[in-house]
Amino acid sequence: MTTLSPTLELACDLIRRPSVTPVDEGCQELMMRRLGEAGFAVERMRIEEVENFWARRGGGSSEKNGPVLCFAGHTDVVPTGPLESWQYQPFDVRIDEDGMLCGRGAADMKGSLASMIIAVERFVADHPNHKGAIAFLITSDEEGPAQHGTKAVVERLRERGERLDWCIVGEPSSTTLVGDMVKNGRRGSLGCTLTVRGKQGHVAYPHLAKNPIHLAAPALAELAAEHWDNGNAYFPPTSFQVSNLNSGTGATNVIPGELKAVFNFRFSTESTVEGLQQRVSAILDKHGLDYSLDWALSGLPFLTQPGELLDAVAAAIRTVTGRETEPSTSGGTSDGRFIATLGTQVVELGPVNATIHQINERILASDLDLLTEIYYQTLVKLLA
Ligand SMILES: [Zn+2]
Repeated sequence: MTTLSPTLELACDLIRRPSVTPVDEGCQELMMRRLGEAGFAVERMRIEEVENFWARRGGGSSEKNGPVLCFAGHTDVVPTGPLESWQYQPFDVRIDEDGMLCGRGAADMKGSLASMIIAVERFVADHPNHKGAIAFLITSDEEGPAQHGTKAVVERLRERGERLDWCIVGEPSSTTLVGDMVKNGRRGSLGCTLTVRGKQGHVAYPHLAKNPIHLAAPALAELAAEHWDNGNAYFPPTSFQVSNLNSGTGATNVIPGELKAVFNFRFSTESTVEGLQQRVSAILDKHGLDYSLDWALSGLPFLTQPGELLDAVAAAIRTVTGRETEPSTSGGTSDGRFIATLGTQVVELGPVNATIHQINERILASDLDLLTEIYYQTLVKLLA
């Protein structure tokens, strides 16, 4: 076997550890040791069953000590699914004959973690007296409930007034070539269960019953057809989707007494949670329904406008790959939504996401060396 680059060697070391959410399997121990050796003050933050750590090198948290660039990510991976479906075993990491790094977490996101560590090790060796501070915020619960991970660590950092100017999250943001896309924001996600009450009865005696399906259908049609906003330069228009619709008693001759619909908004910064909630209620009221709504907000939208961080990342990608990156707010939510609440500019930059969460997760191994170089060049632009 040919020798691996430092990034690939570390990536393999991390992927071999079967850290399915929320288990960490020593991934963080390994990262903390490397960062400690590079001069970081490392702080474990185990919260409930979740392993997290915060590490920082240089500067203080006050204004005069210069900006703080934080790398953020997660060591946990999603479950493998049926092992017999994998071409190679998910934690038996390898680089195949096509140069693909194969294994659970290769793309999401142990590859990025390895690139961050190697880039930072090189940077502090080259620039021991760099400006400001470099930090790491790592969790083992991004793929799970995500309550005791980044969200909880961010609360602690907020309480002690920790300054965090810029954050690069290692989520796999690229679509076909590394660096072709970065995420400079994410839509918000607002879920809801709607219950519409009717009156159960015999289908042959509808005048004695109240059919919640008939009552809810036109209201749902109106919700589905509603134009919520136009989006803006960074966000597509807000979308409403029904994911589940349930009613019926199981019998064909019974009008059911109740209907439940589950729906979700992916919303832009042009809409607010309260605004969407009011508009949903107004439509349901207009149809005269007897209903209740059970809302669950899983994330507010965030946006990083063009500025120091986005410019530095775009320039680094251009230097390393010759590509013009495309900033985008598409895709699901990420831990970036918690970090952005600190007033931090947040950009997600990682490898190609084509196989994330799938059987046979893989990325082009050489992309990770490019990613290391991109992180390194970003550090140079911001803190050298
Ligand atoms: Zn991820």
